[in-house]
Amino acid sequence: MTKRLCVPSNFRHDMISYVHDNCGHYAAQSLFHTLAARYYCKSMFADAVEYCKTCDVCQRTKINYGHRYAPLHPLSVPDEVGTRFSMDHKVLTHTTAAGNTAVLVIVECFSGFPHLIPVPDQTADTTARAIVQHIVPLWGFNFCYTATKPLHFLSALFAHVNVMLVIHQGLQS
Ligand SMILES: [Zn+2]
Repeated sequence: MTKRLCVPSNFRHDMISYVHDNCGHYAAQSLFHTLAARYYCKSMFADAVEYCKTCDVCQRTKINYGHRYAPLHPLSVPDEVGTRFSMDHKVLTHTTAAGNTAVLVIVECFSGFPHLIPVPDQTADTTARAIVQHIVPLWGFNFCYTATKPLHFLSALFAHVNVMLVIHQGLQS
């Protein structure tokens, strides 16, 4: 059993300050272990954490990795079934006997109902055909898609869908 010096409360700040400032500005965990090997006081860990949080040198020089990522903005839950779908392609390792190279995965966001549609390629035209043949008859055409596809792909996709469903864009001035 090691003997540790029990530090009165009016000297705690000086003790933590001395060790932290003279030992390379340890982070709270390392500071606590260094202190705990030599000294004892009841709230040492909390005091070490608090001191590291408020140390002026640490705040100016240490990189806070906790703030390096942009916050996530999850999509809201749709209000009803069949109004929002998410979509992506799963590329197959080899071409099937029917000539398909990928599976178009379309998931209805409210229920999580998946549609797995084998497709010969990943073009906007083929994807539009699959949507018109497999999704529109089941769910209607009042829907929106979320996909990780580039904007020009989605633009071409909806142009193809509109042509197949004979939907024309109306402009009002
Ligand atoms: Zn510091």
